[in-house]
Order: sequence, then C-alpha cells, then structure tokens
Amino acid sequence: MFKKILIANRGEIAVRINRACQELGISTVAVHSEADRDSMHVRIANESVCIGPNQVNKSYLNAHALIAACEITNAEAIHPGYGFLSENASFAKMVSDHGLTFIGPKHEHIEKMGDKIQAKKIMQQLGVPTVPGSEGKIENISDALKIGSEIGFPVLLKAAAGGGGRGMKVIKNEKEMSDNFSIVKQEALSFFGNDTVYIEKFIDSPRHIEVQVIGDSHGNFVHLYERDCSVQRRNQKVIEEAVAPGIDNEDKIKLFETVISAIKEMGYLGLGTLEFLYHEGKFYFMEMNTRLQVEHPITEMITRIDLVREQITVAAGEKLSFDQAKVNPLGHSIECRINAEDPKTFKPSAGTINLYHPPAGNGIRLDTFIYSGYKVPHYYDNLLAKLIVTGRDREHAIRRALRSLDEIIIEGTVTNIELHKKILASEDFKKGSVSIKWLEENIEKL
Ligand code: ADP
Ligand code: ADP
Ligand code: MG
Repeated sequence: MFKKILIANRGEIAVRINRACQELGISTVAVHSEADRDSMHVRIANESVCIGPNQVNKSYLNAHALIAACEITNAEAIHPGYGFLSENASFAKMVSDHGLTFIGPKHEHIEKMGDKIQAKKIMQQLGVPTVPGSEGKIENISDALKIGSEIGFPVLLKAAAGGGGRGMKVIKNEKEMSDNFSIVKQEALSFFGNDTVYIEKFIDSPRHIEVQVIGDSHGNFVHLYERDCSVQRRNQKVIEEAVAPGIDNEDKIKLFETVISAIKEMGYLGLGTLEFLYHEGKFYFMEMNTRLQVEHPITEMITRIDLVREQITVAAGEKLSFDQAKVNPLGHSIECRINAEDPKTFKPSAGTINLYHPPAGNGIRLDTFIYSGYKVPHYYDNLLAKLIVTGRDREHAIRRALRSLDEIIIEGTVTNIELHKKILASEDFKKGSVSIKWLEENIEKL
C-alpha cells in the first residue's frame, strides 16, 4: 500500500479523498494555488505545497508542478479527484512515466473513453446499446446537413471532447445547423482544445441513468447499481438519487450484465461510470466517465462501501474487498449540490462565509470544505457542499432532505438551498421519474 498520496485537487473532493487516505493510514500531500492557502483541504492534509497562482491553468492544471510536488514530498501516487486533470490521458501517462501511480484507470482507457465518438464505437462493439447518431466525426457542414436529415431533426451537435455539461447544442432544422455548425466547433476548440464534433439524435424527455462500476487487476469487475441524475439545469446535475425510482428490475439486471461484460472485456481498472439516457423502457449509452464522480456518495450510502478507499487500494494492486454478491443496496439516498450562485441569474457568487452551521442527525452526510470565516474565491467551481441524505425509502429520504435543508445555515454568500427545497417539495419530484427537461421547464413555477 502507498505510504503517501498527493491529492491533485481542491474543495470538497480533496477533503473527501484526504479522509479515505487518513483512514487507510496513508499520509497526504495537499496542493494549492495562492488563493487557496487557507482552504480546508490544505489545513487537514499532513503536508502541503503551493503549486502556483490563482488561475487553474497555472496551478491545478499545471502537470509539471504536480510531478515536482511529488518529488519534493516523496509522494508515490496522485489522486486527481474529478474535473481538472482527472480525465487527462497524457497526464496519467506522465505520472506513470515518472514512476508514480495515477489513481485511476489505465491511460489507454482514459484516452479511449475521453473521445466520446470512440467511446460509443467501443461500447457498441461490446454489445452496449448507444444513442443513435453519426458513425464518427462530422467533417464539414454538408455532412452535418446530410446526417442531420438522415437521423431526423432535432439532433444534438456534440463536442467529442466535451464535459461538465458544456459543448453541445440542440439543432432543430437545417437552417439552425448552417447557423451553428462552425460556432459549436469553435466553442469546442476553445473549451476543450479540440474541435471534433459529432451528431446524436436528440432524445426528447429521457431520464439520465448511470451505472457505477469498479474493476481490480485480479480479474474482478463489479457494478454498484445505478443513480438517477435527471434533475439537471443546462445539462448539469443538480440533484441525484440512488437507486433510480420506477425502473423495471429485469431491465436493470440486463443492463448491469451488459455493462459488466463490457468492462471485463476492456480489462478496466478502477472506478468508472457509464452514463445512459433512459427512454420508453430502453437504455442508450452516452459516455463513460473514467474517474470518481461528484455524486459517488449516494452509492456509498446505499451500498455501505467506501468507493474512494477501494479506488486507492485497487490502484495499489490489491483485490477489491467485496464481490458482486456483497453489494446489496439498502434504503434510498439523495444528493443536493449546494452551489454558491444567484437564485435568479444562476451566476456563480463569491464572498466570505460569516456563519456556517451544518445539519446533523440520522442519515445525514455533508461533504464540504467551507467553514465560518472562509472566503470563497471566485476562480473555481461554485460547488460549496453536497448534502447527502439516506432514508428507509424514497419518501423518507425526501423528508429527511427537506428537514436538513431547513437546518443548514450558510450566511455571507447566496446559495441554491431554496431551489433544492422547492424541487424536493414538488409533487412531480415526489412522484419520481422526472425527465432531464423537467427542472428547466418548471423552474419558474417552482
Ligand atoms: P459528474 O458526472 O461527476 O457529476 P460533472 O460533469 O458535474 O461530473 O463534472 C464534475 C466537475 O468537473 C465539474 O466541476 C465540471 O465543471 C468539471 N468537468 C468535467 N468535465 C470537464 C471537462 N471536460 N472540462 C472541464 N471541466 C470539466
Ligand atoms: P458531459 O460530458 O458534459 O457530461 P453528456 O454526453 O454526459 O455530456 O451529456 C450531458 C447531459 O446532456 C446528459 O445528462 C443529458 O441530460 C443531456 N444529453 C446528452 N445527450 C443527449 C441526447 N442525445 N439527447 C438528449 N439529451 C442529451
Ligand atoms: Mg456526462
């Protein structure tokens, strides 16, 4: 097992990873930008290294500074968390070329799944149903128009390297395709450094259902059931729950079997998530995230398995500590992403948290890095905290979430706590099975 791990991230996820390391008896190195000197992740780690100025490309995305920080501190492995360099295949390769361990999948798998076109092709070959769309990348506007009408408008024009809900546009007809093709390509280039685009059928009102998997280097591959992440705004998740309400059990079992046979065939190592659209009783693969996911805690709560701990131990070459038969979901878990944002404009907000009081009691988990007096910098993601509540069943979990949202106090910065209360209290959400369009269509009414 590793003696020392460098955590190449910030915020709540750096705190989360630090916890798993401490519980495994592993010493930790935090890295931080100048703006993050007083951040929680720096305070709780055993050591810390400043890796650069506030801008992410000079600090958290600075691969050379991260490798140097490992050398200075004698850290043997790097945990990338999510976002930043977590899905950067050349970084993963650079880490292993320096004799260090990247806590994540093999760089070949990161590379293959990072290209969404290739990912879909591979999954298709492995028998996983995918969202109908173009065979490969779309080279020019005339191909885009041709394929658009073959598939049938509306379609979704997507960046092959996209992520974080960005880099996609709904195209309703030929004119919109002509107007937007080069704009989407240009945006893809500036956001993701790659202007490759492809086309998918735009599926109207599906649900977002994803399957959590993990593999070790001893031939064990296990799924940890599914999560429903359909409550979204601008293709970004707002609330997630496990397991998904109202899906036929037989259908789920079939899906899990297909998923497991695919990752077995790949020889996948570590944690991963396969994301699907679920529409009229069928699943369609969209993409695979080759990393720890923001919403992993809801799976941890219902399965009682520490995913970060397993992620670290399998990266160290150990066997998974459980097998498929030991994964028995119990109860229902819901996560609310608490963001620092304006409730009307949704613009990210910054400021000093002058009062913070967390909710507590049975079934409550709050993954955060904030504290009273903490100054939220404006350079980074606006996720402040994840409220994770687990109850006997879905109804209980919703009640528990509502009472926790009433208890929590965050003063000094605006948050989306009120939005969460309205969603959880709504009749549609209580019924279950809302689609990915639901929140945007109902946000005014809520
Ligand atoms: P999850 O599926 O784990 O919820 P998200 O899509 O919400 O993942 O992304 C997690 C974090 O990583 C967010 O902060 C998001 O902005 C960021 N992120 C994900 N993919 C990319 C990417 N390709 N480029 C930039 N940021 C990304
Ligand atoms: P990202 O890498 O940004 O997470 P995804 O491909 O996972 O991109 O898509 C993000 C979200 O966009 C999905 O969760 C879903 O809500 C929506 N979406 C993606 N593809 C389609 C599609 N073909 N039809 C309808 N909605 C889609
Ligand atoms: Mg996605």
